[in-house]
Amino acid sequence: MNHVHQACIHPECGATYDVGQILTACPSCNSLLDIQYDWDKVAVPRSLSEFESRWGSRREPLDFSGVWRFRELLPFAPDHQIVTIGEGQTILQKNDRLAAQLGMNSGRLFLQYEGLNPSGSFKDNGMTAASTHAHMVGARITACASTGNTSASLAIYAGVSGLFQCVVFVGSGRIAYGKLSQALDYGARTLQIRGDFDDALARVREICEQHPIYLCNSVNPFRLEGQKTIMLRVLEGLGWDVPEWIVVPGGNLGNCSAFGKAFMELKQLGLIDRVPRLAIINSSGAHTLEQLVNAHELTWNSGQVDAPKIGDYYESMDERNERARTLASAIEINRPVNLEKALRAIDVCDGVVQSVTDQEIVDARAMIAAAGFGCEPASGATLAGLHHLREQNLIGTDDRVVCVLTGHQLKDPDLTVAYHSADENLRAKKLVPSGVTKAPYANAPVVVDNDVAAILEALELSEESAAFN
Ligand SMILES: *Cc1c(COP(=O)(O)O)cnc(C)c1O
Ligand SMILES: [Zn+2]
Repeated sequence: MNHVHQACIHPECGATYDVGQILTACPSCNSLLDIQYDWDKVAVPRSLSEFESRWGSRREPLDFSGVWRFRELLPFAPDHQIVTIGEGQTILQKNDRLAAQLGMNSGRLFLQYEGLNPSGSFKDNGMTAASTHAHMVGARITACASTGNTSASLAIYAGVSGLFQCVVFVGSGRIAYGKLSQALDYGARTLQIRGDFDDALARVREICEQHPIYLCNSVNPFRLEGQKTIMLRVLEGLGWDVPEWIVVPGGNLGNCSAFGKAFMELKQLGLIDRVPRLAIINSSGAHTLEQLVNAHELTWNSGQVDAPKIGDYYESMDERNERARTLASAIEINRPVNLEKALRAIDVCDGVVQSVTDQEIVDARAMIAAAGFGCEPASGATLAGLHHLREQNLIGTDDRVVCVLTGHQLKDPDLTVAYHSADENLRAKKLVPSGVTKAPYANAPVVVDNDVAAILEALELSEESAAFN
């Protein structure tokens, strides 16, 4: 494997390390690590459409996988060590109903449904890659801290492959039950830390440094390699024609970073001739990236990121006792670990950052569910963000836009029912503390007597109306 190594993203350091090492930061300067390839030594297809030939051999697990079908573009593992459970069978859906609601031309708005992965979120794209690396280095125990989906994904890979024991650290209280139930079902040892996500991540990092436990949070650079393929599938869905915009929610910023790396590499390899623009959407209750980029003008700056500016911002957050708080629990993060890589992605893709309120998130989520396959709140942020960018006229009526729906609708059903419920008390209990006061897209259940006449009345039908004419 002399065509691949781990490399520090800081240009002044640039240290490189063997892929066989287990690292989540540069040992020399503590910056993030990338997986880098010497592309001259890799047999990369000359055109992206060559990957399509693998659709004909779908009984071959590596060709079936929506991640490993593109393995020449993430060539860090020997085929026989790849851990795959059939991830990445996801769909790019053209959605003209939502396009019309956003004042866009038909055929221009697409939804990339990553909720269709085995554990119901895009995390599986990354976890197949991290689990593969864990297997390559002989790890027996994998671990992560999680707002929910990372633990569900890690746990399913450990359970299905049978290769690892699995430990997940979750913060207390704010985890959607759909996600917690998955970690428990798949057999992960689940530790509920008395603290929030950032606390849980700090603890799991400490423990993995001192013990032979393999860390699978998105500081793990291999995870992002798998997540690059979401963009490959988007391009595939569009007949390899690069869209104008990709819209993605930002939490720990691993996904947007992976997208930026994918486009950077595809451009470098000459497989695409231009990159799309990237819109990263924060919740206004967890808007670190948005604030740093828009209010404090933080940029990638050729890798010379203004670290004191970030430090000052975090300090002022602590002084104000500001903690991330949003109904979109998957993006409820104070200190996004992939911040610098996200800045690089913004640089590569001429990106923008937008924040949206919880009210906008839950309304957008309901709109998507009414017109598409449905998604969890964090994914709804994409459509809410798109709405803002349309209003600012940054995104035009005829731009082709892909919103990445990161997680499945059934991850957080409590919130959905609270939104739709006519029961004001239930709605108030779940939603109002987060600033959600109305539910314009509610579709409330109707309580009706156990009686045909009453049911017909509720359906606004009369006894005489004949069927179908
Ligand atoms: C993890 C997650 C996110 C945030 O992704 P990052 O890579 O951390 O920015 C968004 N939506 C869902 C559903 C997630 O599970
Ligand atoms: Zn370094």
